Amino acid sequence: MNPSFSSFLVNDVFGDPGLFVEVRWSKRALLFDLGHNDALGPTRLLRASEIFISHTHMDHFIGFDTLLRVALGRGKTLRIHGPPGLTSNVQGKLHGYTWNLVGGYPLTITVHEFHPDGIKTATFLATDGFQRHDEPDSPLSHCTSQGTFTVFCDPMFTVQASALNHRIPSLAYALQEQFHVNFNKERLHEAGLPVGYWLKEVKQYFWQGQPDDFRFLATLYHEHHIETREFILGEIRERFVTITRGQKIAYVVDARYDEVNERKIIELARGADIFYCEAPYLDRDADKARDRYHLTAKQAGIMAKKAGVRELVVLHFSPRYTGLGHEIEAEAREAFRGQ
Ligand SMILES: [Zn+2]
Ligand SMILES: [Zn+2]
Repeated sequence: MNPSFSSFLVNDVFGDPGLFVEVRWSKRALLFDLGHNDALGPTRLLRASEIFISHTHMDHFIGFDTLLRVALGRGKTLRIHGPPGLTSNVQGKLHGYTWNLVGGYPLTITVHEFHPDGIKTATFLATDGFQRHDEPDSPLSHCTSQGTFTVFCDPMFTVQASALNHRIPSLAYALQEQFHVNFNKERLHEAGLPVGYWLKEVKQYFWQGQPDDFRFLATLYHEHHIETREFILGEIRERFVTITRGQKIAYVVDARYDEVNERKIIELARGADIFYCEAPYLDRDADKARDRYHLTAKQAGIMAKKAGVRELVVLHFSPRYTGLGHEIEAEAREAFRGQ
């Protein structure tokens, strides 16, 4: 299976937390948290049109300026999702600069704040110097008994979140591909059909939920000629496609280890292919972790095991353990896999 998402940490495990997820074969990406992000460079930053913020402590939000700077002057909409208070934080950042010469800039920033009782949305346009425009509230959808709610829906994937206790709400996120479309290349070859861009279009039809009798035209790039042919989606599905479980990636940072948080994290991360989880402390400093509303490596490992994830990646190590990163990783691994 060729995974649809490729994900990596924005910084070293001791650096500011952040996760970059590329949607492969498209020029799109998702970015979780906006700590220092110079390492991503402008091209990657510009691909990230959906941004998900856990909370706005400095190490998770200082990179807003870098993103703003590369996006300014582009015909782009940045959508930023996060906890209550995010709109004021964005507004405060935008008010930190003078905007008298950006009237022709086409940048739009939309902020979605997720409250327990609904979503508050505000828009800022470069064309009017980033004045705040509040929009009507909308309801939360798909809220479960443990409090997981939907943040973003795309035909291909959804992003869900849960508000964790970090003395303030800290949103944890899970990205879930709806289902995965696999093409049997051998069978395509036997039928004289080339691989290429048209398969990407076929995937879109599946994700859009088109019916089996859906007909479409595809441009096929053979070795020596180009051909346009009509297909029926159901026939393609039967002959060349296997649909499997979609990929899932969970991202959890800045939360205390308590019963409620644990239940929420396990529900959100359940069955994830990769579980990115903060582990700022070693368990011998569990008291300090608790005082500061953070997790230990052991706690991250225990929750990864309970959630039945395939892979655990720990991050956001406290600088107090500089040079001891391997101990944090070993502690998390032992709690997760018992080795
Ligand atoms: Zn924090
Ligand atoms: Zn933090």
